[in-house]
Amino acid sequence: MSTLLKVENVTIQFGGLVALNDVSFSIEKGSVLAVIGPNGAGKSTLFNVVTGVYKPTSGRVTFDGTEITGRPSYEVVERGIARTFQSSRLFSDLSVLDNVIIGMHTRTRTGVLTALFRPGVARREMDECVRKAESLLKLGSGDLFEQRYRPAGTLAQADRRRLEIARALASQPKLLLLDEPSVGMDETETDALVSDIIRLRKENPDLSVILIEHDMRVVDAFPQHVMCIDYGSRIAEGDYATVRADPRVQEAYLGK
Ligand code: ADP
Ligand code: MG
Repeated sequence: MSTLLKVENVTIQFGGLVALNDVSFSIEKGSVLAVIGPNGAGKSTLFNVVTGVYKPTSGRVTFDGTEITGRPSYEVVERGIARTFQSSRLFSDLSVLDNVIIGMHTRTRTGVLTALFRPGVARREMDECVRKAESLLKLGSGDLFEQRYRPAGTLAQADRRRLEIARALASQPKLLLLDEPSVGMDETETDALVSDIIRLRKENPDLSVILIEHDMRVVDAFPQHVMCIDYGSRIAEGDYATVRADPRVQEAYLGK
C-alpha cells in the first residue's frame, strides 16, 4: 500500500486560539480513516486545511506525492480531493441532477468558447455529463435518481446528505472527505449511509475516505484506522478498540 495523504506537523492559529496543534497523520490508498473528537476539537478545521480553505500557520500537507500546503481549493479538487461540509452547501433551487453536474465542472473540457463555436462538442459533452450524473444518483440504497428533477432544497435531510456525497464523487476524487455525514439521520438512514460507503469502496477499491463522525455506529463500521483529536491535538490513533480504550480519549469525551 502507498500513502495518499500525508499531514505533517500542521498547526493553525486563529488569533490566540490554536485550532490545530502539531497534527500529523497519513492515510493509505484505498483505506478509510475515521476522525473523532469532541465538538470544537478541530476536526472540520483539519478538512479546511487539507482542502486549501485555510493555510496552516506551519506544517505540510502532501497529496499523492505533491506538496499542496495552502494551495487554492480549486487546485486541490483538480488534484483529486473532494469533500462534503458539516452543514449542507447544496444549491437548493437547482435540481438534484444539476447539483451533481456542477460537481463535475473540474472534469469537463467545455469552456465558453467551445460552447459558442463548437456547440456539437459541447452538446455531446453535456449528454455525457447527464449520463454520469444519473449513474451517480443511482448509486446507493435510496431513490435519489427518482427525485433527480426536484429542487435539491425539497429533499429530505438524509437525501440531501447523500446528494452531497454524489456531488463530491462527481469530481472523480481519489480522496473523499466526509464531514459528519450522518448528522440529522436516524438509525435506519445511518445504516443505509454505512452501506453506501461500503458499496462505494467495493466499486472503487482505490478510493480513500476520511470520515469525521460523532456517531459511533458509523465508526464501528470502519474500525481499522481511527484518530481522535481534542483541543487541536491528536491524542490517539490506531484501531477503534485501541483508541476507545485510551484514557485520554475517555477523558476527552467524559470530561465535557
Ligand atoms: P470541530 O469540527 O472539531 O467541531 P472546528 O474545526 O470547527 O471543530 O473548530 C475548532 C476550533 O477552531 C473552534 O474553537 C472554532 O471556534 C475555531 N475556528 C474554526 N474556524 C475558525 C475561524 N475561521 N476563525 C476563528 N476560529 C475558528
Ligand atoms: Mg466540525
